[in-house]
Amino acid sequence: MIDFHCHVDLYPDPDALLARLRVERHYVLAVTTTPRAWEGTQALVAHTPRVRVALGLHPELVGERHQEVELLCAMLDNARYVGEIGLDGSPPHRASLERQREVFSRILTACSSKGGRILSIHSRGAATGVLDEIEAHPGCGIPILHWFSGTERELDRAIRLGCWFSVGPPMLTTTKGRSLVMRMPRNRILTETDGPFTRRGGEPLAPADVSDALNGIAQLWGNSSGKVEAHIAGNLRALVTRDASNHI
Ligand code: MN
Repeated sequence: MIDFHCHVDLYPDPDALLARLRVERHYVLAVTTTPRAWEGTQALVAHTPRVRVALGLHPELVGERHQEVELLCAMLDNARYVGEIGLDGSPPHRASLERQREVFSRILTACSSKGGRILSIHSRGAATGVLDEIEAHPGCGIPILHWFSGTERELDRAIRLGCWFSVGPPMLTTTKGRSLVMRMPRNRILTETDGPFTRRGGEPLAPADVSDALNGIAQLWGNSSGKVEAHIAGNLRALVTRDASNHI
């Protein structure tokens, strides 16, 4: 299975999670929330195959840590994946939105100048702002909108702009989430958990819980979850083959 947005370094016991991943053999994109965490997380996953690490600066941290964007840009040469980046327009983070926009724009400019990257993007309460920036930086790479929660109009615009989507179990538990997923192009969908920030029964979701997302998508598509899993594996292969920066 594929968990394309998981905060591996933020679990209470990351080593236990990684030991489990070595047995379960899932493909995981370990997103990070600061550039320094990218270095630490690379060391952490060094002995776990099929885990890749994305270089990030989480929009919720930009208010206090915006100066770290320079560090992120300096590390970009060695990063094929970038995330978690983006904008958060929800009430606790609205005050830093202008700063967030500057930082996000700076990161996308840097990605464009390096020939593009695979991007895992947060857009809660700010889908239009995120799409404005993606549109303004057409060479930034392949944007993957994680846990997209905008409107159908915003989704249609994201599709026109070439965005991909990573879909997790929580999206499939709401009527709105399900109708958004139903509208997404089937060849641009990946799965995710966003663990450990998503929980079930008090326990953080782990990459194996992507199975819940597969079951939910299978219901929507009228397919078996095994077929959906194979389809999404094919999507990931297409993504990494298409990506221009695959020499890294
Ligand atoms: Mn996240």
